[in-house]
Amino acid sequence: MIVHWTELTKNQFDDLRESAVVAVNFSSTEQHSNHLPVGTDGYIGEEVLTEAARRAKHTVVLMPPVRYGYSPHHKFAPGYVTLRQRVLTDLCKDLCGCAAANGFRKMAVMNSHGGNTAALHSAVNEVGEEYEGKLDLALFTYWDLIGDALARVRESPMGGTSHGGEFETSLMMHLRPDLVVPSLIEECDPAPSDPYNEIDLAGKKKYISFYTFNRFNASGHVGQPHLATPEKGKIFFEEAAQAAAEFLDFLGGKQPA
Ligand SMILES: [Zn+2]
Repeated sequence: MIVHWTELTKNQFDDLRESAVVAVNFSSTEQHSNHLPVGTDGYIGEEVLTEAARRAKHTVVLMPPVRYGYSPHHKFAPGYVTLRQRVLTDLCKDLCGCAAANGFRKMAVMNSHGGNTAALHSAVNEVGEEYEGKLDLALFTYWDLIGDALARVRESPMGGTSHGGEFETSLMMHLRPDLVVPSLIEECDPAPSDPYNEIDLAGKKKYISFYTFNRFNASGHVGQPHLATPEKGKIFFEEAAQAAAEFLDFLGGKQPA
């Protein structure tokens, strides 16, 4: 069941803090090639988390989402708004700290932008250090929950489903077709991998390195957006919302560590 944090009066928090799960989406604002808007990660992440909160059996108190993330990889193109990594960590830490200070015991941070991973992971460590035994905090990235559906539905080989590729373009065609520009979708090869690193949402990553996202083409996407369809987007969305709902229920029912 979904409850919006900002719609509650101060007295209504009393009934929720013991059993509810607080949830918040972190996304980003950055170029997504020529055919998708810079707010893509937020449009997708917020829809997935809102639908997941609706479907969850536990009460999920949704905090307003954070639309800015860590995106220096996209500075070659207009439209980015990037936070310093330390600021993002502190922002996440403060939101989680406020949930704990308000008496909540469970919290989920859902990430919908790959570049945020390290900063949000740092926040989880720092919150854990400070609120151990008080707040059960879990960070997850929504596409990690639907690896099976992704493998089943995608037509692109490894390297086709990354930033602005088959997966995200399909989701936007389903969720916000008004913001997709089909005439500007380019036909591209999959991003090349090396033996230790596959440039794909489902790829293996045995090492970490920094690169800007015009490395594969000047347009700034990574993967094969020409394989996207709204039908695939609907399946990805349903699977992601359901998987996230089940995860929120798992967190809600889990004994605190
Ligand atoms: Zn994206």
